[in-house]
Amino acid sequence: MPSFRARTITKPIHSWAKKALPALSETEAEALAAGEVWWEKELFSGNPNWSKLHAVKAPKLSPEEQAFFDGPVQELCGMIDDWKINHETGDLPEEVWQFLRDKKFFGMIIPKEHGGLAFSAFAHSEIVRFISTRSVAAAVTVMVPNSLGPGELLHQFGTEEQKHHWLPRLADGRELPAFGLTSAEAGSDAGAMIDTGVICKGQWQGEEVLGIRLNWAKRYITLSPVCTVLGLAFQLRDPDHLLGDIEDIGITCALVPTDLDGVETGRRHIPSSTMFMNGPTTGTDVFIPLDHIIGGTEYAGKGWMMLMSALAAGRGISLPSMGCAAIALSAHTTGAYARIRQQFNLPIGKFGGVQERMGRLAADAYAMDAARHLTCAGLDEGRALSVISAIMKLHATFKMREALNDAMDVHSGKAVIDGPSNYLLPLYRAVPIGITVEGANIVTRSLIIFGQGSIRAHPHMLDNMFALQEPDDVVSLEKFDKSFWAHVGHTTKTMGRAFGRALTGGRFAPAPDAGAATPIYRQLARWSAAYALTADVLFLTLGGALKRKEMISGRMGDVLSEMYILSAALKRWEDEGRQEADLPVLRYAAARGLHRIQTALDEVVANMPARWAAWILRAITLPGATTRRPDDRLTEACSDLLYTPSAARYRITGRLHEGCHRDGVQLLNACFAKVSELAPVMKRLREARKTPQEALDAGLLSEADFARIEEMQTLVDQVIAVDEYSREDFAALFPAPSSDTPNTKEAAE
Ligand SMILES: Cc1cc2nc3c(=O)[nH]c(=O)nc-3n(C[C@H](O)[C@H](O)[C@H](O)COP(=O)(O)OP(=O)(O)OC[C@H]3O[C@@H](n4cnc5c(N)ncnc54)[C@H](O)[C@@H]3O)c2cc1C
Repeated sequence: MPSFRARTITKPIHSWAKKALPALSETEAEALAAGEVWWEKELFSGNPNWSKLHAVKAPKLSPEEQAFFDGPVQELCGMIDDWKINHETGDLPEEVWQFLRDKKFFGMIIPKEHGGLAFSAFAHSEIVRFISTRSVAAAVTVMVPNSLGPGELLHQFGTEEQKHHWLPRLADGRELPAFGLTSAEAGSDAGAMIDTGVICKGQWQGEEVLGIRLNWAKRYITLSPVCTVLGLAFQLRDPDHLLGDIEDIGITCALVPTDLDGVETGRRHIPSSTMFMNGPTTGTDVFIPLDHIIGGTEYAGKGWMMLMSALAAGRGISLPSMGCAAIALSAHTTGAYARIRQQFNLPIGKFGGVQERMGRLAADAYAMDAARHLTCAGLDEGRALSVISAIMKLHATFKMREALNDAMDVHSGKAVIDGPSNYLLPLYRAVPIGITVEGANIVTRSLIIFGQGSIRAHPHMLDNMFALQEPDDVVSLEKFDKSFWAHVGHTTKTMGRAFGRALTGGRFAPAPDAGAATPIYRQLARWSAAYALTADVLFLTLGGALKRKEMISGRMGDVLSEMYILSAALKRWEDEGRQEADLPVLRYAAARGLHRIQTALDEVVANMPARWAAWILRAITLPGATTRRPDDRLTEACSDLLYTPSAARYRITGRLHEGCHRDGVQLLNACFAKVSELAPVMKRLREARKTPQEALDAGLLSEADFARIEEMQTLVDQVIAVDEYSREDFAALFPAPSSDTPNTKEAAE
């Protein structure tokens, strides 16, 4: 018998909520329950417990991982000629493929007992990040088997037999995997796929067995042209009830060897002129036995849940690592180039317009890499971080685009002209790939981050939803009564906090003693309370309709993301021993992040359909123009960090330039060192209004300094030069067109 409170007060609310919340399908419920929440839950609570953030162990490479990084990773980068891959051969050289297999690059996440390297998420990320600065094609080739794909799915869900058979073969590259989910009909809405598997009897190795007859047409599948085993997602049906009562079993994942009759792979797409292996695959009446379902028949129909949990790790590592590589490379090269390149008789890095871009680059390089570290730390604690992974995928690739745009703008013509010495264009071309794959950014921003985050990270939302889904009305009411009143208690506390902190400008909000960074913690706690209250008001006034209000949901996702990235930057500052020199980038990241949070919440309130609620919320949380974007002095200080050789510059841009250089970066670094070293001498000459020759003749310059200036000038000339081609070389690059149509099946054969 439900309690008196449940029968009287809760009951009408329960009936209203049941109507307001659309019924969840089993697939939706499984997907929602998949994955874990972590630090974002604290941010969502309105009162983050900072000691939990500080307790996270900063990730570090083990000696074995470090040795791999210093050995095979450097060797691999030395073997790669990215220009040749993208413009001449269209593929990695055979010896690189073999090296990747021999050194087990494809088995980084496979446990040691199955022959893999069992590396941490952080090592995986460091490796992908580093290779990305050398070649996107090579980085994608390495990242895909180690993120979403048969390896990850088998590791999490495979039967013992499947693990014993497949994992050692995947680890040493005897088998090369690809994962086929996307088809022409089903892109972002992968559940809409029409690729089918029908349970039937068929011949397998000379015997009649129960299995699945598959038909599919997938596209955009990375490694598909060369894979030997395809992890395939399809809709499984059992019309003859050979497995049981259910006819439409649902999305299922199975392993399909590509040498089976009816499988077609080999055709290629050209993804944004970046020549990793990618292409379509089709299958016509391909028969596999039931034990090829990943996890066995027990997992038939559970494909969506499997994908949701397996996506988390890969999504939090692969593209974020590539994104961070691009941001760091942009910051590193732009700082150096802005010092080397002179216009109007001054290095361009002295002009405010250029400094504006460099300030942003420095802060993004610092904050996004901090978020990468924090995410890897969470993954290495064994957590399946579904919401944080989506945040990372979206923001690392979004900021990758922003950073490359800034870097391209500052480099101007130097970066526009293509050739082996152009160190920006290969990553620039890869931007749309990063934006699109593993959940396209628009849908990730507007549907996933807040959609999933609000339900999973909210302290009571999931309990409310599961209570409402209970088929038994009495049980449903009892459960809802508990979770609803806990929710009301939480909202009441949050309201008090949000109001108090808004009134006092967050001055008394809880914060650890973090020296100069303490006020940033307080501000973040202030906006966390405002965010939690805004989310509750949205649930109350919009209910299930919130799902369709993507513009509101997108802004709420932005706030959660900004809070996550900023808290990661705070943690980085703490973990790195509160480096005084890095304070400008931390302050810049804070000012910009807090301003974005405030603006996004302001816009949410301005667009809330329930105007009465919007007015109350505005009065309580005061989302007005109180925080400002970084000021000019701060921007200049951040810009200077990239412009001047220092330990801080190295910390901000990270390990990109030791022993493994994209063509052109090595030269840039050598020139940057010379230009910086001779800066005081050049300043003297500028003030004396003399050329080096005139200064030498007037006895103002020593012979030795004159020689050093000449050496520097040669390097400067080389850096500002761009690639050019003779008529013959150009004709060799672009031979006369033949009558073949390379995208047809016949041509590929
Ligand atoms: C280079 C490359 C490699 C890939 N590798 C693989 C692979 O290995 N395996 C695999 O299975 N797939 C792969 N994909 C497919 C990739 O995951 C899909 O391209 C992606 O899911 C988007 O699908 P789509 O391109 O059909 O875009 P669409 O789904 O048509 O989306 C178009 C636009 O609409 C937006 N959108 C869609 N729905 C919504 C919504 N509800 N709300 C807001 N916005 C929405 C999207 O964000 C996007 O911006 C790859 C794609 C590329 C380009």
